[in-house]
Amino acid sequence: MRAPGGPRLLLRRLREVMAEPVTAQARLDRIVVLIASNMVAEVCSLYVARADGPLELYATEGLNREAVHLTRMMPGEGLVGLIAATAEPLALSDAQGHPHFSYRPETGEEIYQSFLGVPVLRGGATLGVLVVQNRARRTYSEEEIEALQTTAMLLAEMIVSGELQSIAGQEAPIAVRRPESLTGQPIAEGLGLGHVVLHQPRVAVAKIVADDISMELDRLEKAIEAMRASVDELIDRSDDGRSGEHREVLEAFRMIAHDRGWLRRLREAVAGGLTAEAAVERVQSDARARLQRQTDPYLRDRLHDLTDIANRLLHQLAGQSLVLEPGELPDNAILVARSMSPAALLDYDRSRLRGVVLEEAGASSHVAIVARALSIPAVSDLPNITEIVEQGDAIIVDGVTGEVQVRPPPDVEASYGEKARLRARQQDQYRALRDKPSVTVDGVTIGLHMNAGLLIDMPHLEESGADSIGLFRTELQFMLAPSFPRLNAQEAIYRSVLEAAGDRTVTFRTLDIGGDKMLPYMKRLDEENPALGWRAIRMGLDRPGLLRTQLRAMLRATAGRELKVMIPMVSTVTEFDAARKLFDLEIAFAKRCGHEPPRDIKLGAMVEVPSLVWEIDEMAQAADFLSVGSNDLMQYVFAADRVNKRVAGRFDELSPAFLRALKAIADAGRRHGKPVTLCGEMGGRPLGAMALIALGFRNFSMAATAIGPIKAMVLSLDASAAQCELEAMLADHSRHGSLRALLQALAERLDVRL
Ligand code: PEP
Ligand code: MG
Repeated sequence: MRAPGGPRLLLRRLREVMAEPVTAQARLDRIVVLIASNMVAEVCSLYVARADGPLELYATEGLNREAVHLTRMMPGEGLVGLIAATAEPLALSDAQGHPHFSYRPETGEEIYQSFLGVPVLRGGATLGVLVVQNRARRTYSEEEIEALQTTAMLLAEMIVSGELQSIAGQEAPIAVRRPESLTGQPIAEGLGLGHVVLHQPRVAVAKIVADDISMELDRLEKAIEAMRASVDELIDRSDDGRSGEHREVLEAFRMIAHDRGWLRRLREAVAGGLTAEAAVERVQSDARARLQRQTDPYLRDRLHDLTDIANRLLHQLAGQSLVLEPGELPDNAILVARSMSPAALLDYDRSRLRGVVLEEAGASSHVAIVARALSIPAVSDLPNITEIVEQGDAIIVDGVTGEVQVRPPPDVEASYGEKARLRARQQDQYRALRDKPSVTVDGVTIGLHMNAGLLIDMPHLEESGADSIGLFRTELQFMLAPSFPRLNAQEAIYRSVLEAAGDRTVTFRTLDIGGDKMLPYMKRLDEENPALGWRAIRMGLDRPGLLRTQLRAMLRATAGRELKVMIPMVSTVTEFDAARKLFDLEIAFAKRCGHEPPRDIKLGAMVEVPSLVWEIDEMAQAADFLSVGSNDLMQYVFAADRVNKRVAGRFDELSPAFLRALKAIADAGRRHGKPVTLCGEMGGRPLGAMALIALGFRNFSMAATAIGPIKAMVLSLDASAAQCELEAMLADHSRHGSLRALLQALAERLDVRL
């Protein structure tokens, strides 16, 4: 049996109904009538998935109208629930004989023998189920199943548009618009409220039915060709590190782009009457529904690749660029992406950006580094977030807790709004402290310096009122560069950093790569324990050319100014001496070349490997200054990986063991008259900094955002009182895993602002 007028006529009529100025319910009522008559069925019903679980009958032609909004099925329950759970069509000539058939007296459906149901899919999520039924026993043809699936695509559009929400009301929102509260990995601090902007906008498939099938097939073939060529080009570029994508991912893209099964399904869908775009979406929807039920991580990864390649094909067909033009960013934008290169993030207008949410990134990833430098709150590790959100959805990103609220209900939005206002008030208070000298209640001056690593960090120096750049992580620039920066490029970077710093000093750290900081263009080393492996100065001494080039660039860039350099991961004084020798060679070389020398040169050592604590006197004598890298020192002292969340809560930087080690370093600096700074995260936490001041530290280098809170703490602290009390705590041999609680109580007693 053929549908009168066929699917094309039906779709044309449906489009007319979609445009009519009627209520959502009236529109749905007309749609089911149209479908039933076009498919010569006695019944057509639409079930919509509600946020709280069940599928609710939203409209029907043929069943009892009183059952609308009353009949509900849970996924898995009845035939409708079965279709929702499997996300696959179901055609039966004897519906009542099926083990899943569930009789609902209010619908009066027992008189119908044949049943055809298809899922209403969007991005792999089942938004509802569309059903036709016939009184007589009959077999639905492939063509009819296809036609109903195509019709369901239109209904999916209507559901995601939010129109049906007016029927559903607030108590039972439909699934696609439901609020989602998710928790990911916080990668850049801050709180952002705004609206979703998809970094890779979806192509809206406006036209579903093809006017001319052979022309559509031709369009499809041309787009596939062009997409294959673009993937090949990306692969070529990945060889010289310019594509920003990993080669394995690109190879997977290439495999899919040539996959016969996938291409056959696309061609069949077009041959069945769909436009090329609708065919891509249909095939993708089916694959997604199947693969999403897989728990195997390998298959789920393939789904990601499949989604990417389908997306590329859609953009090719639509003639749109794959990613949003940076200039198109609306106000209060929260970018949502699967992943993003640092360069892509830098392209967007910072003033309109309120946050970034990614499916995958990792705290030490490059995009995280850039987000932090730009002070944009960011959260990652949220699989499927690009599918959960719709362009323009309200969204909140909490870069401290990792919480992301999608389509938040009014009370949640209000409470985050309050939190944001509180934060803004606090920021205002900190800003008001900017020009106040950082001196404790009892007159001890505390130097507050800033950590940086990119040029985009530099404006924070002025804004925060920091005394200097206490740590410039040179490797960040190397991590973002497409290839190893040569001498001239390095010199230009350091010169720009110094210019941006004005009359404030910059302490450059030599390359700290290896471990968790790999350069994309360097061969990955197979090390069992990379954190204990070939990294930082170890690499620098084994490859002196690397280190010398960097020192040469720094010497040239600082002509006439003070040059401060520090060496990371020093484990023995002899290592530092070896680095000093290379530095001296470069100073002599610069002189021979006639370069204007720096006004003053200082070479310091980072204390972040525990062995130095037992050689600290010699180290303090050898170096011009010391800088404690508490992040690494802590991980090595406790043998606890700094990026492994499982062991993160196991040890405390406020434990007696760690504080005693830190005290030994501060004391040695004082004994030998050498300045000591602490540049790890601990110095940026008010309670940590309070303890450090009590131990004798007088200089801290920290993230720009920490400067205000630390200054507020310093201004309220009696350093000598804290020192007496902490000394007593450390002398007491009762067993304290951590002194945190005691220090907190001390802060309260001394009225310290934490
Ligand atoms: C540290 O280890 O404390 C430090 C400041 O260096 P990084 O975090 O870059 O290793
Ligand atoms: Mg370190």
